[in-house]
Amino acid sequence: MDQNVTAQDKLYIGGEWRRGRGAEIASNFPADGSLNATLPGASVEDVDLAIERAQDAAHDPAWRKLLPHERATFLYRIADGIARAADRISHVQSRDTGKTLTETRALAMSASGTFRYMAATLETMEDALTPSRGNYLTMSVYEPLGVTAAITPWNSPIASDAQKIAPGLAAGNAVLLKPSSWSPLVCLELARVIEEAGLPKGLFSTLPGAGAIVGEKLVTDPAIRKVSFTGGTETGRDIARKAAEKLMPVSLELGGKSPTIVFADADLDVACAGVMFGVFSSTGQSCIAGSRLFVERSVYDAFVTKLVAATERLRIGHPFEATTQVAPLIRPKHRAEVESHVERALADGGKLLTGGERPSGSDYADGTYYRPTIIAGLDNDSRLCRDEVFGPVLAVLPFDNEDDLIRQSNDNSYGLACGIYTADFPKAWRVARAIDTGTVWINTYKQFSIATPFGGTKDSGLGREKGRDGIHAWMAQKSIYCDLSQAPHPWAKAAL
Ligand code: NDP
Repeated sequence: MDQNVTAQDKLYIGGEWRRGRGAEIASNFPADGSLNATLPGASVEDVDLAIERAQDAAHDPAWRKLLPHERATFLYRIADGIARAADRISHVQSRDTGKTLTETRALAMSASGTFRYMAATLETMEDALTPSRGNYLTMSVYEPLGVTAAITPWNSPIASDAQKIAPGLAAGNAVLLKPSSWSPLVCLELARVIEEAGLPKGLFSTLPGAGAIVGEKLVTDPAIRKVSFTGGTETGRDIARKAAEKLMPVSLELGGKSPTIVFADADLDVACAGVMFGVFSSTGQSCIAGSRLFVERSVYDAFVTKLVAATERLRIGHPFEATTQVAPLIRPKHRAEVESHVERALADGGKLLTGGERPSGSDYADGTYYRPTIIAGLDNDSRLCRDEVFGPVLAVLPFDNEDDLIRQSNDNSYGLACGIYTADFPKAWRVARAIDTGTVWINTYKQFSIATPFGGTKDSGLGREKGRDGIHAWMAQKSIYCDLSQAPHPWAKAAL
């Protein structure tokens, strides 16, 4: 085990560090397969305990009655704590996921920024005095939901965890986190920071454990009043069905097959860099990966030649090397899935332009590396253009005109993101408005601001996270009418 990854045999449940009573979870380092740590996961009994403590804590006036600026102080302290621990968090997350240190540090700082933003938003949020239609005041106020749950995937744990925990706590709730079994360690670092920030015990628990047991229990338990989920579309659909049974609000951030579009008038250097960053950074393990590339036919050959050459110059390497651009995939099982997508694409008639194999050499022998891959010659309705690969695999297609492009881009079950490269702003605006997707980037890709809402359409999800309204999504709206006449109601007056 790496000396920098603490032996970890306890989970943070109900404000205490306790041994989980569920099945053991192992974390391995994707760069060489070595064991980082094993830890006992959470059991159903652990979830019960976390819920019981969370209910007490969420309804305790010491938390529930805090004024917004008072509650915000806890979030500011958590933000500071994450920033102080960023090096350690980043190291643990890179060991856990194989992501580069550069990326995991950025994710840790983004998580810190999320807590800070939600604290500032909370302090400045206003309830509404709505126009009344009589001699009374009408107010619309927001209140906490109670005990809530966050279920997250393995690809960007600390950032996706923060996007749920920060608004959930800001809203005045308790939040129970179930991270992915493939990245169980980093949430414990976050728990340490939250404990040090003095958050009242019970308001936050972290419950790594099997999705089908711990995740399902969180979704179906009557005490849980909201689930915010990020993960695969099929899991999301299953959660939505179960949530419907108990009429519980859910927010779902799901998969994608996002189009990136290069018009002939684009700056081709800008477009080439953006396309590569969009699909090959994070080794393609990104919901927003720009994995379907449409290039205007008049520049198709020249652009694709340039893109292939530049892709072959990307540096594949160890996550701890500062120069690495493409790090290993998270697990051998996941690499096998990526490989089978590529095999199917080639069997369907795809033409391999680069990649399609593991890099050779002793540096790569024990890690789950895979070369950035570009495949041409397939239609938009091929399996490669329909299925989310979640790896460094790009399909390239030509298009003839704007109508053809918009039709093809929208002809997909997902609707998460889109990238447009062009020098013609009115055209970019037109296309951006016509694409059925949650986010559009123009002459850039994968830029994020916590102040800007994020979410998908169609099979990419339901609801939005981030932005000022991000906190309201964790609250119940209440209308209050306050009579100003101080007189009996005329309907009943005669009977008095
Ligand atoms: P999964 O859907 O397999 O798992 C996500 C989380 O759900 C994990 O914590 C998992 O636990 C848990 N889970 C699994 N089954 C259930 C269940 N029946 N009930 C409740 N929880 C369950 O996704 P991956 O972890 O494989 O993540 C990759 C997916 O996430 C991709 O499709 C990607 O597009 C999507 N994603 C979407 C993002 C977005 O913002 N739109 C961002 C990042 C990723 P366990 O690990 O124990 O199985």
